[in-house]
Amino acid sequence: MSKKDSISSGYYKEPVPHIAHDSPFASMMERFRFAAEILDLDEGVFKYLSSPEKVVMVSIPVTMDDGRIEVFDGYRVIHNSILGPSKGGIRYSDDVTIDEVKALAAWMTWKCAVVNVPFGGAKGGVRVNPKLLSQSELERLTRRYTANMLDVFGPDRDIPAPDMNTNEQTMAWIMDTYSMKQKKTETAVVTGKPIILGGSKGRKEATGRGVVTTTLAALGKLRISPSNTSVVVQGFGNVGSVSAQLMYEQGAKVIAISDISGGYYNKEGIDISEAIHYTQTHDNTLEGFEGAEKISNNELLELECDVLIPAAKEDQINKDNAPKINAKIIAEGANGPVTANADKILEEKGIMVIPDILANAGGVTVSYFEWVQDRHGYFWTEERVNRRLNRMMRESFDNLFMVSEKYSITLRQAAYVYAIDRVATTLKLRGIYA
Ligand code: GLU
Repeated sequence: MSKKDSISSGYYKEPVPHIAHDSPFASMMERFRFAAEILDLDEGVFKYLSSPEKVVMVSIPVTMDDGRIEVFDGYRVIHNSILGPSKGGIRYSDDVTIDEVKALAAWMTWKCAVVNVPFGGAKGGVRVNPKLLSQSELERLTRRYTANMLDVFGPDRDIPAPDMNTNEQTMAWIMDTYSMKQKKTETAVVTGKPIILGGSKGRKEATGRGVVTTTLAALGKLRISPSNTSVVVQGFGNVGSVSAQLMYEQGAKVIAISDISGGYYNKEGIDISEAIHYTQTHDNTLEGFEGAEKISNNELLELECDVLIPAAKEDQINKDNAPKINAKIIAEGANGPVTANADKILEEKGIMVIPDILANAGGVTVSYFEWVQDRHGYFWTEERVNRRLNRMMRESFDNLFMVSEKYSITLRQAAYVYAIDRVATTLKLRGIYA
């Protein structure tokens, strides 16, 4: 019996209390348990890596434009910092929960380990619908959140970046607030900054670029040429639109795209440059885009295609719609777009899934480059950033492919095995501080 068929009834199986069964945290833990079993991970190390190092919850009072005081909940979870300062984005969304932030923080630990970047994992969130706030209210919210996190953030401690609904401007405010308190400009405290403030060339496109590098590597394994590839992209934010654009530039036919206004399908292929131009001139939405027929989100996910790129949010492909997925490759541009209970179904259908902690790791990889450049005070050309990014993503894909063949497991399982092994080996060498 192979190791992967022999999940024991040992401590790995113990349910984590207070965690909703189908939450992102449950999905993360299920995959973590599986990898722990393959690695024969020591029980103590399993426990150590199951719980976040630090969970910070703050109230963020904001004086609104009309003079009212509104209070928002803010979180920062440091899952682990054994590999280096913790790293991870901050998201603004009215459905952020602490469980979700804990899962996303753990995913950052595994993600950094997968691409061999010397960072630990963290994530932040503020429970707010940013669309309901003015720009100056958002600025005050961001500055107060940062002020509340002054003991947490730091270029050698914990380094935020953009995530859902946060952007270069948000990072500029965080950097400025932190710098004011330190009485010196500290660019390396955040990544994903505007280039003029010490950001890196290529950072904005990096996540989408990494999705495409790993997709091309996967297509190579299946011997499909990019120019013969049909692609479906869910989500048209930074990750989805760049992935679609770069696949399109590779000669692939992007037959469907979507955003919150719905799905857009054209079996002859959509002109992605036109779609991007459309969103730029129409309030960042595809609503009313004419180069395609309107379809629902579910129809989009179930389209027959070679590559499906879910680049929207968590839990989009689950046990209910997984049997109907009609792709050869799924490249996870978003974090956690496939629930753990859909993994087996996709595996049985023979779909190659490039897991989020590899596929979308291009973002944190160039964040690492940005941090290095800030600390050196010497900035790279875009060509250099992209070349190094492509190389690291390609090497990581090949590493995981080897691990997956060695243990006869999926790429996702290989990613967890590789990452957990790396973190556990480092922990063993460093030992537990007492
Ligand atoms: N938020 C991005 C992610 O989920 C980037 C994190 C970073 O660059 O630190 O990977």
